[in-house]
Amino acid sequence: MPDTSVEQGQHPRVFVADIGGSYIRFGVSDSPGSVRLVESVPTPVDSWEAFGATLEALADRHIGETGSPLVISMAGAIDPSSGVICASNVPCVSGRVLGAELSSRLRRRIRIANDADCLALAEAVEGAGAGHDVVFCVVLGSGVGGGLVVGGRVAGGASGIAGEWGHGLPVSTSVDFDGTGHAQPVSALRCGCGRLGCVDTIGGARGLERLNTLLNGEQKDSHALLDDWQQGGERARRTVSAWLALVSEPLAAVINITGASVVPVCGGLANVVPLIDALDAAVRKRTLREFRERVVVPGAFRREGGLVGAAIIARQDGAREP
Ligand SMILES: [Zn+2]
Repeated sequence: MPDTSVEQGQHPRVFVADIGGSYIRFGVSDSPGSVRLVESVPTPVDSWEAFGATLEALADRHIGETGSPLVISMAGAIDPSSGVICASNVPCVSGRVLGAELSSRLRRRIRIANDADCLALAEAVEGAGAGHDVVFCVVLGSGVGGGLVVGGRVAGGASGIAGEWGHGLPVSTSVDFDGTGHAQPVSALRCGCGRLGCVDTIGGARGLERLNTLLNGEQKDSHALLDDWQQGGERARRTVSAWLALVSEPLAAVINITGASVVPVCGGLANVVPLIDALDAAVRKRTLREFRERVVVPGAFRREGGLVGAAIIARQDGAREP
């Protein structure tokens, strides 16, 4: 049965979905700061028909006939002028004007929002960045993402990808591993985007593994590597030292450029709190502004950030039940 009861409080009920390459997670929010996950179903990634039918069924079950809009958080770049999405983890939607096509099929307004933007908004408004005017949220998952929030709103920009620091910003090709003042060369790695040496090539979990292979000639997954690092392993220390130097430099530049006063970090690597502590120390050594307080902090949201951010967007859009 759809949950169509009209909420008694001052906040309208809003409906949100977080679409990943594995699952579509559907949520309902009755008030700011709270989102209930109401259903999770596998994502049809190869069939557009199955994808549309799955979302239509979810909307029928949980929104019903109210006509309320749905805000969807998903990975991918959306061209702000054409609305065309490029989503590598859900191939059947790539190249489509997804918001318009789903709006037509589901007979309600569908807003598509980039997942890193949703996460950034969640952190800026209700999470680790609350109270700060300029928040740059970093995602260190398998790769690298980011989102910029100014004054409680996502800074989308003309490109629609403001805050995307993972590509186009090359990392250094030399690094002082041991703090001795002697930099050693590090080969720039080819990025999936076609460029050479993007932050994405070394910044996320896969990048950390590639960097370790490059420096130590060993294949080790990021969990084992970071366990070794925390236990004082020499090879892991060498890799993580290089990672901290290489990632903190462009991150400090982003902070200089945006004026961000806090950088919540989300994604799998954010679960290793000592790594985020070390990243904060490395970044603050490199920013133009001298920060006395922490800047780089673990994000407050893990799995629910996309849904929370989508709900904030829904409220900002003035979504209301009739
Ligand atoms: Zn790239």
